[in-house]
Amino acid sequence: MTQTLQTATLFGYPIHPVTLDAGLHSAETAISAGDTMHVVTLNPEMLMQAEQDVELGRILRQSGLSLPDGAGVVWALKTRGHRQVQRLPGIEFSESLLALAAEKQYRVAIIGARPEVLETALTRLKEKYPTLNLVFQHHGFFPSAEEEGRIAQQCAATSPQVVLVALGVPRQEKWISRFGPLFRGTVLVGVGGSLDVWAGAVQRAPRLYRSLNLEWLYRVMKEPWRLKRIYKTLPLFVVKVLVAPNRSTTDRVR
Ligand code: UDP
Repeated sequence: MTQTLQTATLFGYPIHPVTLDAGLHSAETAISAGDTMHVVTLNPEMLMQAEQDVELGRILRQSGLSLPDGAGVVWALKTRGHRQVQRLPGIEFSESLLALAAEKQYRVAIIGARPEVLETALTRLKEKYPTLNLVFQHHGFFPSAEEEGRIAQQCAATSPQVVLVALGVPRQEKWISRFGPLFRGTVLVGVGGSLDVWAGAVQRAPRLYRSLNLEWLYRVMKEPWRLKRIYKTLPLFVVKVLVAPNRSTTDRVR
C-alpha cells in the first residue's frame, strides 16, 4: 500500500514534516497494510554523515518516514518555506508508538543498549504501559556479525509489528536496512539513546531547553564528547543549507 505524505527534500534526502498524530497514523497504516516501514529520526549530524557514508545515504533516501528530530533540520526546512514545521523528537514519537502498541496490542520487539540499561528501561516501560506486548528483547552488544544475524532472525520469528533498534547512528539504520526484509507488517525505528533515557541513566533536557529547540545544547553540556561531533558537522551543514537549491515536493512514499 502507498501512503501520501508531505515530503520536503534536503540535499536529496526526504524529510516528512508531519505532526505526531500523522506520524503515528502512518505507522498504523503500514502495520495494517502488511508493509514494512523504516522510521528515521533525522538530525544534521546524520545528514552530514550520509555525505561520507554511501550506505547510510542510500538508506536515508529510501526511508519510509523521516522525522524532523533535530533543531537544525527544522531550521533548514523553515529556510525552505515550511514555516509551520515543528520539531518531532524521535524519543517522543517512539514512546507514543509504544503507547499505541500497548493500546492496540501490537507485538513489540526492542533491541539495543547495554544489558542493564535495557532491563531497567523495560521494567519502567512495562510499569507505565502494563498492556505492552513485548515479544522479543536483546541488548545491543553482539559478539560477532553471525550472532547479530542470528538474533535478528530470532526477533523476526516473533513477528513483531513494532521494532525499536537502539544501536546509535549509523549502526541502527544499517541494522534496519539489512534485516528489514525479514519483517512484514512492521514499523522499525532507530531510537538512538532513548533506552538510556527511559532507564533513567540519561536525563532529557528540561522543558525550557526543549521549547527553545536547545535540547542539543543540553546534551552537549551533559556529554561534552558530543561537541566534537557537532563541531565537525554543523558549520558545513549550515553552509550547505544556505547554498543548496530550494526544493520541496509532495511525493508518494511507501
Ligand atoms: N549501543 C549499542 N551497541 C553498540 C553501540 C551502542 O547498543 O554497539 C547503544 C548505546 O548503549 C546507546 C545507544 O546505542 O544506548 C546509542 O545512543 P546515542 O545517544 O549515542 O545515539 P546517537 O547519538 O547515535 O543517536
